[in-house]
Amino acid sequence: AIKCSLSAGFIDFPKYASNSSQLIVSIDYFISICEKQAGGYIEFNDSMLAAVTRKNKIVKIINEAVNNNGFEVYFQPIYDVTKKIYNKAEALVRLCDTELGYISPAEFIPIAEETGLIVKIGRFVLESACKKIRELLDSNYIIECINVNVSPVELNLPDYSDFIISLIEKYSIPKGMIELEVTEGVLINSFESNAKVFGKLLENGVIFALDDFGTGYSALSYLMNVPVKTIKIDRSFISQITNSVNSVIVEGVISIAKKLNMSTIAEGVENKSQLDILTKYGCESIQGFYFSKPVPYNAVNASFAISR
Ligand code: C2E
Ligand code: CA
Ligand code: CA
Repeated sequence: AIKCSLSAGFIDFPKYASNSSQLIVSIDYFISICEKQAGGYIEFNDSMLAAVTRKNKIVKIINEAVNNNGFEVYFQPIYDVTKKIYNKAEALVRLCDTELGYISPAEFIPIAEETGLIVKIGRFVLESACKKIRELLDSNYIIECINVNVSPVELNLPDYSDFIISLIEKYSIPKGMIELEVTEGVLINSFESNAKVFGKLLENGVIFALDDFGTGYSALSYLMNVPVKTIKIDRSFISQITNSVNSVIVEGVISIAKKLNMSTIAEGVENKSQLDILTKYGCESIQGFYFSKPVPYNAVNASFAISR
């Protein structure tokens, strides 16, 4: 038998849209809400209007920022507990608007992905990361790699690997110094369909980290088949690490990663007790407010040591 459900929505026009194009935007948003529920009837309301209005504003702000250098790249230093130095950092994009103030990437990245604008943002972040690596190397800072988040939209671009390779050449980036962070879902869905892109990147010394580990399928067996060097354990596990189930899972993930020759980064470490537990389990790298918040492009150099 095929199960079928029906959702119906009602929008008061012109109360919630003053013209037809606004109405279409509202309907689009409405449909996305209707799809999330298993049938029924809903009426467009004031809070939906507020959400649509904010989203439209953010689309405009992203567009403007893309065209006028409106984005900034911050770096969050990552601490190596065995070497006792910061030797990695994650690039995180920042967007500030005169009217809306700071807009979190958690809010604008999905919108940028929907509109395709993520491609330009991603290129800007990658180039900033490469520039930063070159700058640090030229000044003899000790740095292992810079991590950059990649959206599935970017991985699906046929010329994505060529773009990264061109940056590697432009800035003479040594092998293993760019680590692309992908989530589990992305890796599972695109590793096979984008095998060429992954292959080309690996050949050129790009390495991969599995981001937000624990929030997706968490299929440990899958790890054997993917070319991942680092596992990033999601903040949700770390914040609850004193809970015995979570602590068993984290300990297990770290030990499996070790056996597979992968390294682990714990995300969102905010206090000493979390750090102590992770150190006891043998987690090499720690990222979180306990050590450092993301800092502006120029400020991050101060976190790294200089080799003599
Ligand atoms: P993410 O990749 O999981 O990045 C880590 C997020 O955790 C960052 O949030 C960081 O500021 C935050 N964080 C780090 N340490 C702590 C901590 O100790 N406590 C707490 N509460 N939070 C901590 P941010 O910068 O707001 O970024 C949110 C998400 O937006 C990122 O999550 C990533 O998925 C996405 N994002 C950020 N920059 C980019 C980018 O350049 N490209 C793409 N595609 N996505 C990005
Ligand atoms: Ca990340
Ligand atoms: Ca993460």
